[in-house]
Amino acid sequence: MTASDRLRGLIRTIPDFPKPGIHFRDITTLLLDAEGLRLAVDTMAGQLTGPFDLVAGIEARGFVFAPALALKLGAGVLLIRKDGKLPGATIAEDYALEYGTDRIAMHADACAPGARVLLVDDLIATGGTARAAVRLLRKAGAHVTQAAFVIDLPDLGGAAALRGDGIAVSSLVA
Ligand code: 5GP
Repeated sequence: MTASDRLRGLIRTIPDFPKPGIHFRDITTLLLDAEGLRLAVDTMAGQLTGPFDLVAGIEARGFVFAPALALKLGAGVLLIRKDGKLPGATIAEDYALEYGTDRIAMHADACAPGARVLLVDDLIATGGTARAAVRLLRKAGAHVTQAAFVIDLPDLGGAAALRGDGIAVSSLVA
């Protein structure tokens, strides 16, 4: 069995969450499995071409994988949060949702100009969140060329759009 098959088997789909018609990929079952968690982090790290100064995790499930990868890669962790959550001076970026917009933020002084930053989240769907994170990091002067996800939903086009932004995209389960 491939790593991808094993990991796929540890992720469950919850129908009609958070609203009817959405099939939510739930990674909490993967996190509960010690071997699966290690396999996920090791495989993710093996797909990357470093070095990186920082691993940027996107709230909330990106926060689970970013520190694990950062420890393996010898990098620090940068938190990208929903706007209004970070205590210091922030810069923010808006992105479109199906209905309306959302905003993510990071500390304005979180990364030095030219810092090599890896972007991490649990899942990429439309790519709206990850693409906004790339714009935000680039606005801060970061050098962002790679993004890693546990799950890619390729039919929704996010990974392709992110590649169009000049990002090498890796995932464990598609
Ligand atoms: P996108 O912006 O690419 O459309 O959606 C990705 C973002 O929404 C990620 O931050 C991800 O955590 C969250 N997300 C959307 N759908 C799912 C899902 O089915 N499962 C999980 N675990 N996260 C999701």
